[in-house]
Amino acid sequence: MNLSICNKHKSPNYSIRNSLNTIDTIILHYTGMDSAKSALNYLCNEKSKVSAHYFIDEKGKLLQLVEDDKVAWHAGVSKWLDRKNLNETSIGIELVNPGHKYGYREFTIEQYEILEKLIKFLINKYDIKIDRILGHSDIAPSRKLDPGEKFDWHRLAKKNLSIWPENVLDVPTAEHPDELLYNSLLNIGYDVKNYYEDSIFAFKRRFIPYDLEAIKKGDLLKIAYSVNMEFNKIRSSY
Ligand SMILES: [Zn+2]
Repeated sequence: MNLSICNKHKSPNYSIRNSLNTIDTIILHYTGMDSAKSALNYLCNEKSKVSAHYFIDEKGKLLQLVEDDKVAWHAGVSKWLDRKNLNETSIGIELVNPGHKYGYREFTIEQYEILEKLIKFLINKYDIKIDRILGHSDIAPSRKLDPGEKFDWHRLAKKNLSIWPENVLDVPTAEHPDELLYNSLLNIGYDVKNYYEDSIFAFKRRFIPYDLEAIKKGDLLKIAYSVNMEFNKIRSSY
């Protein structure tokens, strides 16, 4: 695969990874700073104590800041399914975007194209499953909004790089709606035990970005149930 990677900028912010075999997750972020340059400086400054393995600017230039065999510091306090501290087992990818604080805007086609190539490359290299390609807000819903509702997860799913419910299913009537919503989000992987409301918002940003505010409870439930079924289907195929 022709993946052109710039290695000019390196971050000192990493720790030792015991084995490449532990990598099974990809976490997507936006930089959330006023410019690509300031984000790059921040991620490469040892005082910041943050980093990511990869960085993709809006023209589609791909940089590697931390080698895959090191643990980059991008996820922070995080949880998905039974796992905490996802830095240890993941690859972090930063997409340049000012984010909600500095003028959130659409990600560029160039960013998607190189991101998709990179994800395919990592999937093949580390045997990563698509139910483990996640957003920062999925694993830290109370603290993080990125990559946010403008990130096109559906586009990734069409290329088999993410999960999307193609059909919205009717929910089983025997189950209590509130319990079903809670259990659907729990089974997908969200930390509903500690952050139920935040998990709902993170779920909406990812799976119902076209209807963040107006979504009715019944529709939210149907979509959460359908997404959960899709995750189950994918997981049972491994
Ligand atoms: Zn992030």
